[in-house]
Amino acid sequence: MVVLNSFFNAENRKRGETMGKGVAFAFEIGGREIDPAQVEDQEEAALLQDIVESVVDKTELLQCSEHGEPPRFLCSGENINELSLEVFGCCESLIREVEELLNEAAK
Ligand SMILES: [Zn+2]
Repeated sequence: MVVLNSFFNAENRKRGETMGKGVAFAFEIGGREIDPAQVEDQEEAALLQDIVESVVDKTELLQCSEHGEPPRFLCSGENINELSLEVFGCCESLIREVEELLNEAAK
């Protein structure tokens, strides 16, 4: 997947780590990569930060039991009100585990 290469290179992973707790998080809105820290609109910045925090909250302790890798996330959509979250990881079982955790938390 092209998305993986552009978003989850070493630099972005590092940025994810500085954003918090080793969870890599990327945003793509309207086809452009967005850095929540660089968003000028206060409300939008807060919304993006909320998304990151709620996901990080639910998944921060999670890593692959087989490979020791943390999950990575891409939040993308046409605009800020229509974002969907995608989970990436080292293998299918990690991705499934994270998705279950997020679904569980969303109930
Ligand atoms: Zn794995």
